[in-house]
Amino acid sequence: MNPAPSNTELSKETLTRHEEISPGVFVIGFRRTHDFKPGQAIKLGIDTKIPPRIYSICSGAQDDELCVLFNIKTDGFLTPKLAELQVDDCVYASAPYGTFLGTDAPAWWIATGTGIAPFRSMLRSGMKENKVLLHGVRHLNQFYFSDELAEALGTHYHRCCSAENDPSVYAGRVIAFLAEQDSLPKEQRYYICGQATMAVETRDLLIEKGIPFGNIVTEIYF
Ligand SMILES: Cc1cc2nc3c(=O)[nH]c(=O)nc-3n(C[C@H](O)[C@H](O)[C@H](O)COP(=O)(O)OP(=O)(O)OC[C@H]3O[C@@H](n4cnc5c(N)ncnc54)[C@H](O)[C@@H]3O)c2cc1C
Repeated sequence: MNPAPSNTELSKETLTRHEEISPGVFVIGFRRTHDFKPGQAIKLGIDTKIPPRIYSICSGAQDDELCVLFNIKTDGFLTPKLAELQVDDCVYASAPYGTFLGTDAPAWWIATGTGIAPFRSMLRSGMKENKVLLHGVRHLNQFYFSDELAEALGTHYHRCCSAENDPSVYAGRVIAFLAEQDSLPKEQRYYICGQATMAVETRDLLIEKGIPFGNIVTEIYF
């Protein structure tokens, strides 16, 4: 496994994509020059002076562009600046790295918010067989990529919305959806991606339901 690149190992890239896919939520991308494993991340910045932030890759391993998904943190440093960029502007990016790696084996994928990014990469990289995806958000307009996720996974794609109701989605958090499941396959892996509180609560619930600790893989966005 390649180690995390140092902050000096950033290369200048020219944006080929800068799309606001939902209010305050963007997909940006540049020409892919590295191979990567679906689930990996890059470090990204707007110069080489400030510490870069980490973003999961949301594009597929064979795609020509390498893309990331982010939402603006209004009090954050980088995301308001990334949001202002345009196609042909430059960013500084590391080589892909990380250990949150998808496989072809049956698995449950559990994401909240922008934590959907690595699973979209895994799907676009051909790992859709025998996967169940739980996608949790607060508001209905936060189901990023849901059309393509639904098309790929059909009834194995479960959308959970905690703050708004719609007949097409489960009303509540992913953790409530999981708690209602009578039995979960114990031999499969459970991949969790999102904020720390959600990841820890979900992991604890899975353990309570008999999933071995070693079958739970987490990627925490901090
Ligand atoms: C492995 C990994 C993958 C990630 N992937 C993604 C992804 O795909 N998409 C995505 O949107 N995000 C992702 N993140 C989060 C991302 O790296 C950034 O943290 C996020 O985009 C915010 O960056 P920012 O510079 O705008 O905010 P920051 O300036 O980093 O601030 C973030 C928040 O922390 C608060 N804060 C900053 N400094 C302090 C301080 N000293 N004390 C207290 N609070 C402080 C800010 O007020 C703000 O609310 C990932 C993180 C990790 C670790």
